[in-house]
Amino acid sequence: MGTCVIHPVLLVRALLCAAALLYLGVAVASAGEAPSPSPVAASIFPIASDARLAGDAKQTRFVLDLDKAVQFRAFTLADPYRVVLDIPQVNFQFPAGTGAAGRGLIKAFRYGMVMPGGSRIVFDLTGPARIAKSYVLEAANGQPPRLVLELEEVDRTGFVQSLAVESRPELRPAIAGAADAVVAATAMAEAKSVASKAAESDTRPVVVIDPGHGGADNGTQSGGENEKDLVLGFGLALRDRIEKSGKYRVVMTREDDTFIPLADRVKVARNQSAALFVSIHADALPRGEGDAQGATIYTLSDRASDAEAERLAEAENKADAIGGVNLTEEPTEVADILIDLARRETRTFSNRFARLLMGEMKTTARMHKHPLKSAGFKVLKAPDVPSVLVELGYVSNKGDLEHLVSENWRSRTVGSMAQAIDAFFAKRVAKAGTAN
Ligand SMILES: [Zn+2]
Repeated sequence: MGTCVIHPVLLVRALLCAAALLYLGVAVASAGEAPSPSPVAASIFPIASDARLAGDAKQTRFVLDLDKAVQFRAFTLADPYRVVLDIPQVNFQFPAGTGAAGRGLIKAFRYGMVMPGGSRIVFDLTGPARIAKSYVLEAANGQPPRLVLELEEVDRTGFVQSLAVESRPELRPAIAGAADAVVAATAMAEAKSVASKAAESDTRPVVVIDPGHGGADNGTQSGGENEKDLVLGFGLALRDRIEKSGKYRVVMTREDDTFIPLADRVKVARNQSAALFVSIHADALPRGEGDAQGATIYTLSDRASDAEAERLAEAENKADAIGGVNLTEEPTEVADILIDLARRETRTFSNRFARLLMGEMKTTARMHKHPLKSAGFKVLKAPDVPSVLVELGYVSNKGDLEHLVSENWRSRTVGSMAQAIDAFFAKRVAKAGTAN
């Protein structure tokens, strides 16, 4: 993380540099060039001006300087060991490189906004630790208000015990400063329950479109282009296209720039009894690792089909770490034979759709030289929903990037995907028809 080089024109692996990029975003905003978030909006939030670490491998202290006291919530997570600090939305104005170097129990930390009204700092630990003390000090003796976390080394057993007393974290603002966001979320939930009543009588197959990344997690980047924005634009265009046919009910895992944990994306597919799940991404090769181009279609497997598939799955699975929380729980009923059978059938359907998609996409988009691959993507782990993950191309490749930002390319590629979806369901219907 500390070795990340940030330059607007250079390609960077955002997955590895998220904290630094978030910092960059704030720096640019305060210079008034690219207001995201806008300097006006940012100024109403408390300012986090500095953060420091002190102590050793037995006891480590984190101190956050603020311009006003805030409420907070801190909890630990295992595998890997982390501490998460939730605070109301703040304007991070840390010096460059803050968080890259660790000390004592803290390997490194990263920070950013995880939802409207909520900011988060995530600490990667060197091993199991518990939060011995946590408090906010009011301004005194010329010192600004400070938020202090004191960590203490524990063994694995001690860690697990400390987890049990902490309440289970949830991805919603549980802090007074974020009251507006809670109200907004409640209103949204109500709107959704009305929508789901209407959906009950709708027997059309459900297609879930999952634009990758979002919020604090930018995905891969090239100059001014973020993967999260490119894939959202593509996903919305695909939704509009297939909704128009009237044959499917289309559900998006996100419709705006929001961070959604991988497990929640899978849950959307399962809760909606989706007939198809399509996750949309764009890849990038790390700098110095050559050039690659073209679209690739991935399905789920236990073992990656090649080294590149393995690298990519690892990178995509890091999305949760960047959002700062990893609540993915492997289903406990994995041994259940029914799930196993469903999974086998799902894989057949997933592979069938992947082949149809490749056949259609190669007429409009340029494909990777090995366009069909598989790997252990967390976002594809819904045992009963046929799922693929499409990497539209490489933002690290000049030609691919030109396509990715082109309306014309997008429209043609969306069209080929819509055709593949039609072909997939036409076959399923035909098959069901002959079976009866
Ligand atoms: Zn991605």
